[in-house]
Amino acid sequence: RTTALTVLGSTNMDLVAYVPAAPRRGETVFGREFRTVPGGKGTNQAIAAARAGGAVTMIGAVGEDDFGPRLRAALAGADVSVEALRTVAGPSGTAHIVVDDDGGNSIVVVPGANATVTGLAPGDEERIAAADALLLQLELPMEGVLAGARAARAHGVRTVLTPAPAQPLPAELLALTDLLVPNEHEAAALTGIDDPRRAALAFLDDVPEVVVTLGAAGSLYVARGSEPVTVPAVPARAVDTTAAGDTFVGALAVAHGEGRPMPEAMAWAASAAALAVQRAGASSSMPDRGEIDAGYGAHAEAAARTGQH
Ligand code: ATP
Repeated sequence: RTTALTVLGSTNMDLVAYVPAAPRRGETVFGREFRTVPGGKGTNQAIAAARAGGAVTMIGAVGEDDFGPRLRAALAGADVSVEALRTVAGPSGTAHIVVDDDGGNSIVVVPGANATVTGLAPGDEERIAAADALLLQLELPMEGVLAGARAARAHGVRTVLTPAPAQPLPAELLALTDLLVPNEHEAAALTGIDDPRRAALAFLDDVPEVVVTLGAAGSLYVARGSEPVTVPAVPARAVDTTAAGDTFVGALAVAHGEGRPMPEAMAWAASAAALAVQRAGASSSMPDRGEIDAGYGAHAEAAARTGQH
């Protein structure tokens, strides 16, 4: 069965400079290459989920600038429904990204049109109600995120929250979250606990299920009343980790919506994320379902041969 997902989130044009080493404050360096790539955590998760085989609707906003139509076209080109993507006065969101030769990145996000999404528009509640899950991140105003989460809960739709960029979470949002997916830095920032396993367990006071992503170390799942499970990453030569987490979440939501148990969904999502980090660009680097299946199968086979799991 196809997983239906609605994403309420940001749409940004990523302005990406590739440099040997990132500049320090006051320093100017030459980059080797510049690209504009559609991005934003919402759009990244939407495109990742659609490429992974989900039926995806995007709720958000773009500006009346040159980037707006390109962002809309990028989503539509990945088969994401854009009928609920509004066009508003002013600039689109932009993310100014510096990627260094080690594949690390630093990012400045200017919200632009995303800042206007402070609530739901007519039809959005129905779009949320029709989905298996609503994917949320924190690049929209908190009132907008909360409005989406409330609508999902009212219709019994599962909510998946990526708490990024990390910021204090209102108690109401946590109470409306079914699955929280922080990376290890966000988990530490939100709980004040550096150890990801202890941080994940601390979230269970507020949220029934948590997946903490651990970069090349994989991901960790905890749920109330069950033992924590760690799922390894799929080994990859990282070129650009910009959207690793969003690719992981998009694929995870698709696999879970298909009824696959969480550890299996995490392993499948790890295959998707490993393919994404091996290619430059955010949304343009996301693998399709066939590629994810192939990577997942190859990894399981290699693990069986070496006696790991
Ligand atoms: P980003 O903010 O860069 O989008 P993130 O910090 O949210 O990423 P990570 O925890 O770094 O998320 O990575 C998410 C998932 O991507 C990991 O659980 C892992 O499966 C995969 N991944 C990330 N980095 C690597 C890597 N170097 N090699 C293989 N897999 C990776």
